[in-house]
Amino acid sequence: MKKIFIQWVCLALAPAICPAQSDSAAPASVTAIRAGKFIDVQTGHTLANQIILVRGAKIEAVGSNLTIPDGASIIDLSKMTVLPGLVDCHTHLADLHGAEPLVSLRLTAAETAYAAIPNASVTLLAGFTTVRDVGVYRAFNDVAMRDAIAKGIFIGPRMYVAGAYVTISEGAGAMTGLAKDIELPLDLRYGIANSPWEVRRVVRELAHLGADHIKILTTGAVLTHGSNAKSIEFTPEEIEAAVKEAANFGLRVEAHAHDADGIKNAIRAGVASVEHATLIDDEGIALAKQHGTYLDMDIYDEECIQSDPATPADFLAHDAGLGEAQRRNFTKAVRAGVKMSFGTDAGVCPHGINGRQFAFMVKYGMTPMQAIQAATVNAADLIGHSELFGSITPGKSADIIAVNGDPIADIRELEHVRFVMKEGKIYKREQ
Ligand SMILES: [Zn+2]
Repeated sequence: MKKIFIQWVCLALAPAICPAQSDSAAPASVTAIRAGKFIDVQTGHTLANQIILVRGAKIEAVGSNLTIPDGASIIDLSKMTVLPGLVDCHTHLADLHGAEPLVSLRLTAAETAYAAIPNASVTLLAGFTTVRDVGVYRAFNDVAMRDAIAKGIFIGPRMYVAGAYVTISEGAGAMTGLAKDIELPLDLRYGIANSPWEVRRVVRELAHLGADHIKILTTGAVLTHGSNAKSIEFTPEEIEAAVKEAANFGLRVEAHAHDADGIKNAIRAGVASVEHATLIDDEGIALAKQHGTYLDMDIYDEECIQSDPATPADFLAHDAGLGEAQRRNFTKAVRAGVKMSFGTDAGVCPHGINGRQFAFMVKYGMTPMQAIQAATVNAADLIGHSELFGSITPGKSADIIAVNGDPIADIRELEHVRFVMKEGKIYKREQ
């Protein structure tokens, strides 16, 4: 009775905020989606009039001449463009939006966790069915959010989480700017490590306690008090310790880095991706190509850092000139053929406007198809789960979105996603 009531409320009043229903005893339902245009991110072509068969949570078949099984429910997207669920490789869903980290000190861990729930729902409803979430100030709030979404407690993207920031003392991922006599609770300083063996200890603990990947910070940061984006943090030995220890547990490492030498230290040590990559130089670009390292460049969020009246003055001073340099270097990296993924640093900008970065990626040198591939096939490859998501292919999770127009003609269509399906369940359907 209670379940029926909840379903009625969800259908009648607020489908967007209700968890997906599941009944493991029922046979998997079959849905046929008619796609007017279909973006094949694996070949880089747009196809017309495709049918996608979804059975339960998985894609069963894709083609133009498929027989629709009797009893299948039909979703008519024949006037829309259909593409895979988008992936943002750099989010901070389990923290509050805004540049000021010290806000965390005014809230309990539980208050932070509840306040962050809408971050997950707005991200999913914007068309992002998967995120790689790359750090949280309250250690393991991200692990708890990932698991709550997976259990259907509230809605959000599939999350791959870091557990905490692995950072040097008073480094880019630390809670800095406090009075000297304040001692933080453990969950606000969990990932601090100095020396290769301390890095290994933290990585071991994070791996055991639920991290899907490891986030390290190899240079200073813009949005950290007392930091300098051009300073080197973590030595090559410490970065290598993180990469090797993570690999022992089957995990990959992403490195926050602005400064050119900090970027090269990270690439040489074998990280999977460099985040921001702001001041990457020609040698760094060549190294990234040689090592197959992804660059995950958040070239939109400069708009938010500069326009948000709440951005602290010291952060604006750190940021001077960096946004422009990053966009210039993004163009160079795209032209050089470096592997690129889509990552926005969501949380700096409000959650749910992740799609605005696509237009900037096109403005600064990508084709619309390359920008979409960065957020689908490339992102899945970087996260290490191409078997599960990143394209609309038989056997993969039914993570499918649609927009009204053609994003290859106007990439800004991706700022207005009208249809969202994740794991075969519909979360959004607008005309
Ligand atoms: Zn970030």
